[in-house]
Amino acid sequence: MQRLLETIALARAESEGEVARQLQICNACRYCEGFCAVFPAMTRRLEFGAADIHYLANLCHNCGACLHACQYAPPHEFGVALPQALARVRRETYAAYAWPPSFGRLYRHNGLVVALAAAGGLALFLVLALALNGTLWPGPLKGNFYAVFPHQLLAALFGAVFLYAVFALGLGVARFWREVKPGESADGAAAEAARNALALTYLGGGHGDGCNEEDDRFTLARRRLHHLTFYGFLLCFAATSVATLYHYLLDRHAPYPFWSLPVLLGTAGGLGLLAGPAGLLWLNLRRHPLEGDANQRPMDRGFIALLFLASATGLALLAWRDTGAMALLLAIHLGVVLALFLTLPYGKFAHAAYRCAALLKFNIEKRLPSRIALGAD
Ligand code: SF4
Ligand code: SF4
Repeated sequence: MQRLLETIALARAESEGEVARQLQICNACRYCEGFCAVFPAMTRRLEFGAADIHYLANLCHNCGACLHACQYAPPHEFGVALPQALARVRRETYAAYAWPPSFGRLYRHNGLVVALAAAGGLALFLVLALALNGTLWPGPLKGNFYAVFPHQLLAALFGAVFLYAVFALGLGVARFWREVKPGESADGAAAEAARNALALTYLGGGHGDGCNEEDDRFTLARRRLHHLTFYGFLLCFAATSVATLYHYLLDRHAPYPFWSLPVLLGTAGGLGLLAGPAGLLWLNLRRHPLEGDANQRPMDRGFIALLFLASATGLALLAWRDTGAMALLLAIHLGVVLALFLTLPYGKFAHAAYRCAALLKFNIEKRLPSRIALGAD
């Protein structure tokens, strides 16, 4: 165990040292200054300690623009490949700040196989539970999910898992925030950070033409697919929230008709969560190898697969909810969603939370006078 921790610490120190080396070159060059928030933040520093590197790594949106613009990129002897170097540190920061700390290792093992095994295992468990109970094929139930799994059971189980995910991720981000410590607050910083996050401003590549993927061409595909995924996720969350309000405040219980608000929100969100992750997987498979960290790809793909499967099984459940297959489809969908929630704080979803924190720090910092300009150390 001790040896493993030492190996992890050594790997992190090496990744951070490599980022510091590349940033020193960038700080002298500054050609990419207008591309994203990382470069203006970098120019406010002359040296890069661990906290600075963690902050800049999470501020990077991995758009790839600086790699394709760089005259010092491999095969140049300087070997500047900032998107890859920052991506390596980014994954290390998720593990370093994770709560509980011992779970940080999960980031290293979370991948496509783990995601599919968790989803398949949980779905199988629920299917077997129904089969043993004699309710796996009960005949048409007119979409009444609660005749299969009681409402209280679902609310308690999913509520507990979701709250744990939020709590664990929140504590991890709080530890990150304490380390990068902006020190002061600034008017308007939170609003601008929220705008940057919601609009994915820095996936525009600094000129609005977009990012680079496998080559020098600019494309807005990454930004659009992230938007489909992000807003699809939000719409699905809104559908669940509205259904909960219907249930407890209005005493209106599921199943809801197709034209009801929860079903419309869920359907729109589900379609976004099909198209967005499918497109992001396509981009992920084609990306230039120096734009990312190859070790992180299994984690990316695992999260993408769970989002896609959660949406596909949810839409299938909606389509066949009035048939005898409803209980089976419901068990499969719940298994996938449970796996998604359980892996949420220890997978790719962390990037959304850490990046929002880094954007907030950036927007605070840019409103403050530069310490370099003031001649401070
Ligand atoms: S990535 Fe390359 S071109 Fe851009 S600032 Fe750094 S050294 Fe200069
Ligand atoms: S990959 Fe994109 S977001 Fe990251 S440092 Fe380079 S230009 Fe900035």
